[in-house]
Amino acid sequence: MNIQVKTQDSASRPLVGKVSLVTGSTSGIGLGIARALAEAGSDVVLNGLGVAAEIGKAREKLAAEFNVRVGYSPADMTSAGSIAEMVAATLAELGRLDVLVNNAGIQHVAPLEQFPVEKWDAILAVNLSSAFHATRAALPSMRQNRFGRVINIASAHGLVASPFKAAYVAAKHGIVGLTKVTALETAEEAITCNAICPGYVYTPLVEAQIDGQAKAHGISRDQVIRDVLLAQQPNKRFATVEELGALTVFLASDAASSITGIALPVDGGWTAH
Ligand code: NAD
Repeated sequence: MNIQVKTQDSASRPLVGKVSLVTGSTSGIGLGIARALAEAGSDVVLNGLGVAAEIGKAREKLAAEFNVRVGYSPADMTSAGSIAEMVAATLAELGRLDVLVNNAGIQHVAPLEQFPVEKWDAILAVNLSSAFHATRAALPSMRQNRFGRVINIASAHGLVASPFKAAYVAAKHGIVGLTKVTALETAEEAITCNAICPGYVYTPLVEAQIDGQAKAHGISRDQVIRDVLLAQQPNKRFATVEELGALTVFLASDAASSITGIALPVDGGWTAH
């Protein structure tokens, strides 16, 4: 992991001096959250798949724009060993870990009887087990510092189900459970753990579903977005990565010290049904 060093603190930024690690932050929601944390003054470690040159550019851009240190770990979220190494490297190279955002996630849509077993295993590994492995590795240093924020990016599908998403819905309900256990075990040590449960957010993960659904239903992309994806989302618009970034910064801040163990929907009213 290479670190690009920039040092210029600003009192107006609530997370100056903090170090954040965001899994799955080379794209979509994770990258938006990493950007918001950097803007708030936190040093950031990115993680995720992608083209090395593009990841390098994303790091340089964040470091230059917000004067923070930006690291990168290529750890594979299906590997417990790589995840432990990612946390160890963060502690070794940036000196501490204050905010862990478990965000990496993948999706596969198929009826239960035809759901490929390897897709089930991969989704459970990336969307659920990786959060367990990262949290397990991060907690000892958070306990030592008597400060920590674990923020799990679950989903509205952590609270309610949709057909054809057996693995995703199971993993997301699982991460809401893991959030509560983590919160209970750390509550006396100024560590909080919360889950954010977004409805649909326009990212590459959602883009990948639009054409498939259009073909499956024989309808246009616009109809898929309104009548399939946003059918359950009463405000009929995608949540944005900026909204999720701002919420993450709030949950990482001192103002959220008493908020722990919750699963907070950001879903335009979906789970109010
Ligand atoms: P995305 O596809 O844009 O990003 C996923 C990230 O995870 C990427 O950085 C990718 O490289 C990384 N990743 C995937 N497999 C990995 C692996 N094995 N090892 C390391 N990194 C890996 O997706 P997104 O929409 O930004 O989703 C981010 C999170 O938000 C996921 O947990 C997803 O379930 C959740 N979520 C998304 C939506 C939505 O509508 N987009 C809604 C609710 C929840």
